[in-house]
Amino acid sequence: MYLGSVRFFKHLILGIVALAIIIPTVLSVSFFIKNKHLLEDMSRHTLQNTPVKLSTALEVYNNSGSDSALPQYSGLYPDLKVPWKYSADTGKEKVAYLTFDDGPSHVTQSILDTLKKNNVEATFFVVGSQLDYDSNQRRLKRIAKEGHTIGIHTETHKYEEIYSSVEAYLKDFNTVWTKVKEITGKKAEIFRFPGGSLNGYNQDVQHQLVAEMLRRGFKYYDWNISSMDAADQSYSADRIVKYSTDVGEESSIIILMHDSEGKINTAQALPTIISKLKKMGYSFKSLDSSVKPIIFGYQE
Ligand code: ZN
Repeated sequence: MYLGSVRFFKHLILGIVALAIIIPTVLSVSFFIKNKHLLEDMSRHTLQNTPVKLSTALEVYNNSGSDSALPQYSGLYPDLKVPWKYSADTGKEKVAYLTFDDGPSHVTQSILDTLKKNNVEATFFVVGSQLDYDSNQRRLKRIAKEGHTIGIHTETHKYEEIYSSVEAYLKDFNTVWTKVKEITGKKAEIFRFPGGSLNGYNQDVQHQLVAEMLRRGFKYYDWNISSMDAADQSYSADRIVKYSTDVGEESSIIILMHDSEGKINTAQALPTIISKLKKMGYSFKSLDSSVKPIIFGYQE
């Protein structure tokens, strides 16, 4: 009988040995094949994720013929754009750019009178909510008529709201920008971020915000001289003069001032500021988007 015979056990042992060799071999071969596919997959994946050169990316973007590559908010307010202008460097020429934020208001009248008397042009970064009053609409028209530049500041000046997202900022900006266009017939091309371009409220959205505004052609201007007229309500006209004319070695100066309600000391200080800066060799110009911006930098 074969079953239970010595021959049977010999064959059984041989069979087990054979299986013990064949099974691991088959397993390791299949594992290798599997791994090979995995490796190929990985290399393909890595290739796909290799960063493309910026020039190639721009080419693709320019040739795409659609805005599908842009963030969704870029499609909001399609009319909110102006032609881009390249900046000219004024070099060593001594130029002072007086800038007034947060108006127009009653104070704007007196400031405009002083500017007219001294034949000086300036820039007004206006607040949209102020333009709901007829009196301020008339002041805005006067600003435009007398050759000054109107820039956009904000509609609401509420930091938490406008810097909560790019969409929120665009909504705020578009409201005031549209008001200015309707009142003066002009499209404002420059703006000033409330609190300056680097502030405690906009870190989360600042890069997207700047990119989006530049893409739409708008340039923004910070300042390198502060009149300190917003630092403390009680600052005297003399102190405002002192801060505004403490210009050091700067040839091109953008001075931050305010023409909001109550800034009487600023209006009082203005004639002296103008005469002092004139004596120091400065000429006065209004900003436009061809002027090289002064932009706050990050601390190293
Ligand atoms: Zn402001």
